Amino acid sequence: MNAIDRLGLLAELENSHCELNHGPGTDNRDFPAVDYIVIPFGYQIDEVQEEAAREMVIPVCAECAEALCGEEWTLLYCFECNSSQWVCRKYAKMRYRHHILWLRGCPDCSYEFGGLYFNEITAFPDDQALFLKAQMKLSAA
Ligand SMILES: [Zn+2]
Ligand SMILES: [Zn+2]
Repeated sequence: MNAIDRLGLLAELENSHCELNHGPGTDNRDFPAVDYIVIPFGYQIDEVQEEAAREMVIPVCAECAEALCGEEWTLLYCFECNSSQWVCRKYAKMRYRHHILWLRGCPDCSYEFGGLYFNEITAFPDDQALFLKAQMKLSAA
């Protein structure tokens, strides 16, 4: 994603709404987006070369952005059907340390669980959320 793409996305932010799960009976139009989380999908060519094949961006509201930065919640996100679910770490059976776990397939889109997705790209640590605005500050510096 280049600087022009990023600016285009930010221009659209005003008309975007959070795409994460706010629970049953909620309307995402009530949650205006304030930023995007960026998911780079890529693979490693060899030990030094990495290829970011594509990037996916998801608009998030202030509330979700905050939860993604805190230690209380882990987001499970299925990139096959774009459904998501929040897990409160305190009450979870498993010990979560990631802020987001990407799922390849979930009960919403298929009953065949395709496994967890881990990014191979070392430049993008997968235990924390990447935000578009923060990324722009980095590239401008
Ligand atoms: Zn939200
Ligand atoms: Zn799914």
